Amino acid sequence: MNLYSTKTIRQLKEKYGFRFAKGLGQNFLTDPSVPEAMIAGSQIGPEDLVIEIGPGIGVLTAAAAEAAGRVVAIEVDERLLPILGETLQEYDNIEIICADVLKTDLREIIETQKTKYQITGDVRIIGNLPYYITTPIIMKLLEEELPVKTITVMMQKEVADRIESGPGSKAYGAISVAVQYYAEVSRIVSVPKEVFLPSPKVDSAVLLLELRETRAVQPLDETQFFACVRAGFGQRRKTLSNALCGAGKIPKETVREALSAAGIDESRRAETLSIEEFARIADELTTREGSEWKKTETN
Ligand code: SAM
Repeated sequence: MNLYSTKTIRQLKEKYGFRFAKGLGQNFLTDPSVPEAMIAGSQIGPEDLVIEIGPGIGVLTAAAAEAAGRVVAIEVDERLLPILGETLQEYDNIEIICADVLKTDLREIIETQKTKYQITGDVRIIGNLPYYITTPIIMKLLEEELPVKTITVMMQKEVADRIESGPGSKAYGAISVAVQYYAEVSRIVSVPKEVFLPSPKVDSAVLLLELRETRAVQPLDETQFFACVRAGFGQRRKTLSNALCGAGKIPKETVREALSAAGIDESRRAETLSIEEFARIADELTTREGSEWKKTETN
């Protein structure tokens, strides 16, 4: 069965009485070169365990099952289960879990699978993400510090641009810093909207996130670091010292001292700061009285 053919997708829809749920971000891929690029870019090996988010009718699932030792796919829409039962019937190394990925204990799934199937390779996450929850999914995967080697995910092109950007770029923001803190980011492929059924309004891109063994920086206090990042980008047009004072309710003098000690000009804006500079500012604040961000509403 050619799962990439629009004719097959339409036949499956008719056979199972399935209708696309727009609210679930259901845009199915019709171009085999994209899963091929995702699998190759993730360097999935025969001993690896792959966790897929949102299998749809199973195009990426099948491609992953060809390359990996085992695949667990998490799909929230139970109407897709009988379809997946048919489209993936030739594979004996796939398990589908019907659940909302945001409410799923991924660590437990990984541990259970590793023990039960004696997985000796790496754990890799892949997915053509439902666009309405792209950022919460990515942040969940990173913040839970899962024992995962790579995360290869497709998302709206604009979100990929933001995640990839560095200082000085308009697209650079809190999400760029947050993701780059945990992972090295690279683009695997850009994907035009025309290769989906139904076609979404925007183009897409696939990013490879290679999880760092140690974070990009090691702030004294992670909460303080992220509070600074959020405060800085929360008021992008303000100078750094005003943004930090305003959001953190930290006395201006304390902010000034901290910026000066960190060697950062107080008139700079967050979008010009590297991750290392954010960490330096956060550390200088952490060591000063009266800069307890944790107690303010910015967190
Ligand atoms: N992987 C398929 C493909 O590439 O053709 C489908 C991708 S489609 C963009 C996103 C998939 O995620 C859909 O199958 C949708 O039902 C599923 N999904 C949406 N919200 C979800 C959630 N909270 N948890 C798990 N899956 C979800």
